[in-house]
This record gives sequence, C-alpha cells and structure tokens, in this order.
Amino acid sequence: MKNLDDLLSEGVRGRRVLVRADLNVPLDGEKITDDGRVRASLPTVRKLTEAGARVVLTAHLGRPKGEPDPKFSLAPVARRLGELLGTDVLLAGDLVGDSAKSVVAGLTDGSVALLENVRFDARETSKDDAERGALADELAALVGPDAAFVSDGFGVVHRKQASVYDVAKRLPAYAGGLVLAEVEVLRTLTGDPKRPYAVVLGGSKVSDKLGVIKALLPKVDKLLIGGGMAYTFLAAQGHGVGSSLLQEDQIESTKQLLAEHGDKLVLPVDVVVADRFAADADKQVVAADAIPDGWMGLDIGPRSVEEFAGILRESATVFWNGPAGVFEFPAFADGTRGIAQAIVDSDSFSVVGGGDSAAAVRTLGLPEDGFSHISTGGGASLEYLEGKDLPGVAVLEGER
Ligand code: ADP
Ligand code: MG
Repeated sequence: MKNLDDLLSEGVRGRRVLVRADLNVPLDGEKITDDGRVRASLPTVRKLTEAGARVVLTAHLGRPKGEPDPKFSLAPVARRLGELLGTDVLLAGDLVGDSAKSVVAGLTDGSVALLENVRFDARETSKDDAERGALADELAALVGPDAAFVSDGFGVVHRKQASVYDVAKRLPAYAGGLVLAEVEVLRTLTGDPKRPYAVVLGGSKVSDKLGVIKALLPKVDKLLIGGGMAYTFLAAQGHGVGSSLLQEDQIESTKQLLAEHGDKLVLPVDVVVADRFAADADKQVVAADAIPDGWMGLDIGPRSVEEFAGILRESATVFWNGPAGVFEFPAFADGTRGIAQAIVDSDSFSVVGGGDSAAAVRTLGLPEDGFSHISTGGGASLEYLEGKDLPGVAVLEGER
C-alpha cells in the first residue's frame, strides 16, 4: 500500500492533491460539539501543505438525502479547520460544480480548500458502479491530470463510495497517515495480541455488534458487555429488564452465545435504573437480575464497574467500543467513566473504537494520551475486527 510518505518523496509542490478526510463531527446547530475528527485530520493536511501541495479536501457531514441541504453544510468544519491550521480554508459552494472549479483553480502552493458535503450528490453512495464512477470521474477531472489522491478518512474506508473507493482507481492513490496508523493498530489486534486480551462492548444495539461479538469471542480472553446491549443478554438469561432497551429478535442468538462462550462473557451484576429516559430522571442502583417493572437500565452499577475495572487492569491488550451507559446524561456517565479510567490506569495496549466512545473519552475529561490509540472510525474498525474486507483499504492495496 503506497502511503503519504511515498507521495511526499515523489514531490507534491504545486500539485493538486485530493484528500478524502473524515470530518463528520457532531453538531449542535452550527456549533461543533466535538472536533476530534477535525483534529485527527490535521497531520496529513499539514504534511501536504508544508511540502507545497495544493490541497483539495472532500468529506461528508451527517446524512443528507443526496441533495444540497444547508443543515449539513461543511461551513462550520471549514471554519474550525482554518482556526486549527492557522490559515483560511476556502469552502466551495458545491462539490464538482462551478464554485468548486473556481476555488480549485485559485489554490496556491500550500493552501487548502474544502469541497461542500460530498453526500449532497446522490452518486456518492449509489449502489450503481456507473453512477459512482461518473462522480469519481468528475472529482478526478476537478483536480486535473497531474493530481494525486490521499485516502485519509478511516471512518469511511468500509464504504464502497465514489470519494472513497472509485476515485482511488482514477488517480494515483496513497494511504494517509491516519488510515495507515489505524490499519496498523487493527492488525495488531487481529494478529497476535498480548494476553490477557479483553474487549469491552457497549452502545445501544446488540444487532449492530453481534457480528463482531461472534468474531471476537474465539480470540479474546474476556468479553465484557455493558451499555444498552447488556439488557438483551440479561433477558437471554431469563431476567426481567423492565423498560430497558431490549432487542427481542436477538434473544435466541444471544442465548446461543451465552451457551457457547459463557466462560468468557462478563455481564453487569448491577445496573443504574431510571424511571424515564431523561437527564434528571429518578434513579436507583439495583441488582442486574432485579430490575423493577417500568424502570430502565441506563448505566452499569458500581459493583459492575469494579469487576470490569479489575479485569481491565490485569489485561495486556484492551479493545473498547461502545459506552457503558447513556453517558450524554451526567447522572448515567459513571460506568463509562469508570471503564475508561480503568483502561487509562492499566499498562495495556489499549484501543478505543467508535465515534461515541471516543467522544465520551473527551467529554468526560479523560486524558486522550492515556490510551494507546483512539480510532476515528467505529464502523470501519468493527468491520475489520469482524474479518470483513474494507473496500477503501483494499483499493489502495490493489493494482489500478
Ligand atoms: P460507538 O459510536 O462508540 O460505536 P454506539 O453508537 O454503539 O457507540 O452507541 C452509543 C450510544 O449508546 C450512546 O449514545 C449511548 O447513549 C447509548 N447507550 C449506552 N447505554 C445505553 C442504555 N443502557 N440504554 C440506551 N442507550 C444506551
Ligand atoms: Mg455511534
């Protein structure tokens, strides 16, 4: 796989370099609530600008419906990028139209432009190869014949999309620093991780993560389950879960996992239940097998945190994906904070995957350097750990 350093040694001064970045940040109106992904994209952009490249960034934001929608404009991202880079980042008003063409034509050596949300064009995510190919042709034409492509949006490499996959077949393509680092970390996890190897999974739905749970169970020493998915496991053990999040259709497959790998699966022994889904709900701590009717589990309880933390502190390798509770509500953030703190306190090789988990680390005030690696791509890292091919990486490895 050719990477950014290869491109830099070929020389980029005066060349246009199209960079697919992952700048999909959470927004509250026009305010970015967590700029982690913008900051993660900086090293690759800086290396290119310092070498004199004319950088054209392309990225998506949210889930617009394949047409321009001001709610999903990348304008706040362009502003934040400019602040962090200490230079203006021009935002084109469109993706491959007149505005983009004039912005790209006006770039000078070492300057940066951002194209408007790539998902404003329905071809980006089309299932039809020809439709995606047509958009990729236009993106390649926008940057011109001498251009290069750098794939640095790790959060999207599991998607076969025009700006991720198809464009890499049309321009000389290189893995950016972020994609390279992420892939290396994941190879360590799937290769021969130091033992004991513990995985903590949380988040909301079992169905999202069943694939990775099945793939990981044979490889890990312990798999700790928190978050909303814990209640499907508790229900599979025959316990009532009140009005907690429950995926009835997953109970059978969860039962099977418990039967086959019960020795490795660690479930919460107590939970924090609330009388409604709200930041200021009434709450109490109850045993995991005694959730009262009408109450919902929104966090793991203190005894569970202690048990999980004990396992994590003893582990040599830890992968964590998915918050242990509804950490967005401070009253239900203790479980997530406790798990994160135990990982920080351990000497393990530790990887955090998942957008919400990474956001939790930052919003709960934990030191980012307390983890060996914080992944920017939840879905992509899970699919890799599941053993699936990542099209956006495969295309960089293959022949053009
Ligand atoms: P990640 O983005 O790290 O992969 P997910 O997207 O799978 O994580 O899940 C994150 C969400 O799960 C958070 O918004 C959190 O509020 C929610 N969550 C965690 N525990 C619970 C729970 N007990 N009930 C409902 N939602 C929960
Ligand atoms: Mg998420």
